[in-house]
Amino acid sequence: MPVCEIISVGTELLLGEILNTNARFLSLELAALGISVLRQTTVGDNPQRLAQALKDALSRSDIVITSGGLGPTADDITKEVCCQVMGFELIVDEEILTLLEQFFASRGIKMPHSNKKQALVPLGGTVFRNKNGTAPGIACEKDAKCVILLPGPPRELNPMFSESIRPFLSKYTNGVILSHTVRTFGIGESAMAELAEDLLNSENPTVAPYAKDGEALLRVTACAQTAEQVESLCAPVLKSLLERLSPYVYGVDVNSLQQKVVELLTEKKLKVALAESCTAGYTAKRLTEIAGASKVFECGIIAYSNEIKIKLLNVSPDTLKEYGAVSEQTAIEMAKGARSAGGADIGVGITGIAGPEGDGSDMPAGLSFIALADGDTVRVEKIETGKPLDREYNRYYTASRALNMIRLYAVNF
Ligand code: ATP
Ligand code: MG
Repeated sequence: MPVCEIISVGTELLLGEILNTNARFLSLELAALGISVLRQTTVGDNPQRLAQALKDALSRSDIVITSGGLGPTADDITKEVCCQVMGFELIVDEEILTLLEQFFASRGIKMPHSNKKQALVPLGGTVFRNKNGTAPGIACEKDAKCVILLPGPPRELNPMFSESIRPFLSKYTNGVILSHTVRTFGIGESAMAELAEDLLNSENPTVAPYAKDGEALLRVTACAQTAEQVESLCAPVLKSLLERLSPYVYGVDVNSLQQKVVELLTEKKLKVALAESCTAGYTAKRLTEIAGASKVFECGIIAYSNEIKIKLLNVSPDTLKEYGAVSEQTAIEMAKGARSAGGADIGVGITGIAGPEGDGSDMPAGLSFIALADGDTVRVEKIETGKPLDREYNRYYTASRALNMIRLYAVNF
């Protein structure tokens, strides 16, 4: 398999003015294709340093992908430098020139002279159309090395990768490479990896664990001549993983926990109402990211203060006094209150301490209680994230736990 490096070009990246999301995007895409990324380099808009970075990368890797510096201005130098390093001559591509002129004409502006530079392409190179901007993508191949130049703006780079670069790279990947992602919740990355230990060294498919936002995932990637062959290589491994991890797996190739929750609630014809204190709508926000959530989501009440918990959710003042706002009892009454306020099948109440400071009691930040009530039964979970200082994580993870409780309820309904 070929190895690859990514060079991100742009002084604004070095200054920290923009986040290098292109490198992340490209690394994820290349990994999914089974192409190993050896290095990511960031270099400013400086011809000497870019030339050096390209030469270094080409000395180590088969494929080099750059992003940025394909624009019309004087500081956009990636194409010129690459052609100089690779020994390619730049010529005007009449078709691209016409497309550029049309692009500007359709906006009612005369094309600035500087944009002509974008119609220059390397003689013998491959050109990829840019449907979302003016700079085409380019590939220069020589002496078994390949440099691919992509525009900097992610809204141009991402679709160009999917439409043109992925198919272009297939000749380097010897057949078809496909991955499946097993997504789990409620088990840590290392515990998950331990359960799958003997599979982690396999070669085709490869099994790679990783952790993301409090979830543990496994990516199973195989390579073969045809898609069917890839699937038959993956199938037994996926089956085995699902058996081993069954209490934790919430889906294969689903995008998110909330997507699974909305799917399950839709399938079971269940509607949910939420009462959120410490997460303040985070769970509702994540549920409603999914198209079709209106079929399963009745309402979300952000009940931050005790007064609102009493007024809107019918939480008893005695409960609050006796057990406190962050307690199992309050969570249960919030869940019941949300359910009846929304007229939903299930109500979920979430109350906790997001941090970084505690609430003055001896309870740690990151502690929360989540209750789920369906009219007959009530279940409650106590959560301690163990990250008292990380307010964002505590809120996100608590919402994830609430989503997972809803998921488990729906699975068993
Ligand atoms: P343009 O025609 O817009 O000048 P370009 O190909 O020359 O495109 P740059 O000038 O390097 O690209 O970057 C243009 C914009 O694209 C940047 O201001 C930034 O918003 C975004 N961008 C560039 N590189 C990256 C990156 N590595 N990650 C995320 N965004 C990026
Ligand atoms: Mg630019």
